[in-house]
Amino acid sequence: MKTILVTGGAGFIGSHLCEHLLQEGHHPICFDNFDSFYDPNIKIKNVEQIIKKFPERFEVVTGDIRNQEHVREVFKKNRIDLIVHLAARPGVRPSLENPLLYQDVNLKGTIVLLEACRENRVKDFIFASSSSVYGENQRVPFSEEDLNLHPISPYGVTKRAGELLCYAYHHLYGMNIACLRIFTAYGPKQRPEMAIHKFTRLVDQGEKIPMYGDGSSQRDYTYIDDLIEGIRATIHHHRGFEIYNLGESQTTSLKELIGLIEETMGKKARIEVLETQPGDVSITYADITKAKEKLGYQPRTPLREGIKRFVEWYKKEK
Ligand code: NAD
Repeated sequence: MKTILVTGGAGFIGSHLCEHLLQEGHHPICFDNFDSFYDPNIKIKNVEQIIKKFPERFEVVTGDIRNQEHVREVFKKNRIDLIVHLAARPGVRPSLENPLLYQDVNLKGTIVLLEACRENRVKDFIFASSSSVYGENQRVPFSEEDLNLHPISPYGVTKRAGELLCYAYHHLYGMNIACLRIFTAYGPKQRPEMAIHKFTRLVDQGEKIPMYGDGSSQRDYTYIDDLIEGIRATIHHHRGFEIYNLGESQTTSLKELIGLIEETMGKKARIEVLETQPGDVSITYADITKAKEKLGYQPRTPLREGIKRFVEWYKKEK
């Protein structure tokens, strides 16, 4: 059994991860400030559902990763084996409006955690990076070996900078650090502003879906259970410093995505065509050869099936 500090443990990916870690017999500590990027009540509900299932073993600490005292307190009270660092200000478009906040949470917060690891000799760290670090990269599928990265949003830059910080701490202090470049995760509890959740809600309510561009932009969508398997495999197999792409290695155009949601909801979408947004990339597409070879990562959920499961969850929750 490992004691695992999951920062951002109340969020979409974090709450799924905490639940899986508990099922595996670990002791996850969810560290989260329940910030207001989206309704904090959703995050409170996420943790309450887990507490109900694991009342004895699930620990939730309210704290801010930018605050050294909050973070030191957790390390003082627990012998932490590993950190899975998911807490962040997410989202590409909002990062254009408030780049300083993104810098503060995503960079300063990451340094505070890495420093806490150094002070407390915690050797293992997993960092949630993003496909956004690839930016307008024309060489697809995106490979970790490609060093010619040009992120085109403040969010993407904070994630790339986070990877570089991780490398420095690995080099200086011998930490084992894995940076996971996550490609658009979706499934039950997905953040409400993300495309699949937002489009499903708008179709359901008969409201217009804003379609940025001509619908030809493509994304690699990763079903949450596949992503969690990837994170669990990283916890078990990772050593040294590595960057891994975690995606499905399939791309879907925005138009196709809307079509799949219409089909699954049994209802036509009303589409409002808008101009492409600055900061948005035209394609994300993961080469997952490395994660397959080194971690045994194997995504199994086709988008059609994943959307079906998402819509089932959505209808139950609304
Ligand atoms: P989320 O917003 O649901 O979860 C992030 C959590 O971090 C939230 O619960 C939030 O309250 C918490 N948090 C924010 N600022 C904090 C702070 N200062 N101190 C403590 N906690 C704080 O987002 P998510 O979709 O679950 O994403 C998790 C991580 O994965 C993020 O780092 C995100 O950038 C990364 N990522 C996600 C995706 C995706 O498709 N969801 C894709 C690429 C990368």
